Amino acid sequence: MTEVVHLHMPEEARATQSRDATPRERRYYVWTVGCQMNVSDSERLEAALQGVGYAPAERPEDASFIVLNSCSVRASAEERILGKLSEVQRLKRKHPDTKVVLWGCMVGPGNQSIFQGRLPMVDHFVSPSAVDEVLALAPNPIYQLEEPALPVARWDHPPVSVHVPIQYGCNMSCSFCVIPLRRGRERSRPLDEIVEECRRIVARGAKEITLLGQIVDSWGHDLPGRPDLADLLRAVHDIPGLLRLRFLTSHPAWMTDRLIAAVAELPRCMPDINLPVQAGDDALLKIMRRGYTVQRYRDLIAKIRDAIPDVSLTTDVIVGHPGETRERFEGTKRLLEDIRFDKVHIAAFSSRPGTRAADMELDPTLAVPEGEKQLRRIELERLQEQIAAERNARFLHQTVEVLVEGEHKGKWRGRTPGNKLVFFSDPDDWTGRLARVIITHTGPWSLQGVLARSNETSARVNGALHAVSAANGAAV
Ligand code: SF4
Repeated sequence: MTEVVHLHMPEEARATQSRDATPRERRYYVWTVGCQMNVSDSERLEAALQGVGYAPAERPEDASFIVLNSCSVRASAEERILGKLSEVQRLKRKHPDTKVVLWGCMVGPGNQSIFQGRLPMVDHFVSPSAVDEVLALAPNPIYQLEEPALPVARWDHPPVSVHVPIQYGCNMSCSFCVIPLRRGRERSRPLDEIVEECRRIVARGAKEITLLGQIVDSWGHDLPGRPDLADLLRAVHDIPGLLRLRFLTSHPAWMTDRLIAAVAELPRCMPDINLPVQAGDDALLKIMRRGYTVQRYRDLIAKIRDAIPDVSLTTDVIVGHPGETRERFEGTKRLLEDIRFDKVHIAAFSSRPGTRAADMELDPTLAVPEGEKQLRRIELERLQEQIAAERNARFLHQTVEVLVEGEHKGKWRGRTPGNKLVFFSDPDDWTGRLARVIITHTGPWSLQGVLARSNETSARVNGALHAVSAANGAAV
């Protein structure tokens, strides 16, 4: 459901509005690549478009308003967008009245005029997160919005878990990253506005909120009175009906004792922290301009684990950054072996025009050959797969609490407090409910289990465990 309010259309009428009856001139198609921030922006745009009388189209050819929400973090994401634009160009030949918007991180302050010549199929270029600007371009609205749209687009089945942006932009200047060039300086949304929005989202049926920011733990430093993320977590935490609260993505330089204490104390704030390290070597961290040393990062992890013993820790790593020697790469590998993260997002370095690393990549004495980058990526992925499998094995035979997000291939799919994916079967509808699940199988990427709710279930669990142990030739 969406919280948008129409001036001329009662809520009951909106709820029963037939999407099938909506003509092509009021159908939109939103296509999104990239990070959670883009997904959240697109959700918000869809909610707003539905609020002004549009309905989604399954295929771009069925829409008169096409929005491509783009990403520039990696060259491969830009290539996907360019592929999609070729498809759109063919469509525009058939339906010249189709309006096309290129939105998101590919559209920076300095490159719109370059794109205008190169991408004639695009009618408008809009900077990241400017939802209202894209909405104003929709050619055939029949209603007006009285309030800003919430990122909850579907009337009938509100999402269980919703991402809420609390901050835009980034003030850092990491060598490899194009985001500050495209999303601008950090801007924190005011606390009251965020809390009110979360309240409305939960009132509509959402059970979990993830607060989003490029450096989410720096939230508030630019606001009057300098509130911090710990204050915001405490304010959102007590919203009636909210079951779980998370935040993404933190930066090690901004992670404070106050924030760690808030996560440890607040029962509905999940023990789940994503803390990108990017490299495990001091010289490389300096080249990357990350603002911390390996030892400082290790100390921070120790502090977090001390305060939140069941915490799930995830990180991001780039391999093959210019200047990454084999020895420096070994430092990253050692860090992963020592810390044993629950999950690591590993990317091979991708040169982004305008960044400092792009200049370094042109220097053959610093650049890592493409083949070597990929070998290092695979090496780390294999290592992490083994670590993740071992870490997840601790859940075997344990009962975990799972917030169920929906169905997936005939099973219920949900997440533990530490954000581990869990699948189980049951005839009841578990969407949006907390299930107690006994884990019967673990792997590096997910867990499988059975409901722990009756004697009958216990018998099924024991049966399943005996079957597993028989297959493994071991006793339970
Ligand atoms: S902290 Fe660094 S990597 Fe993260 S968005 Fe800012 S510049 Fe990019």
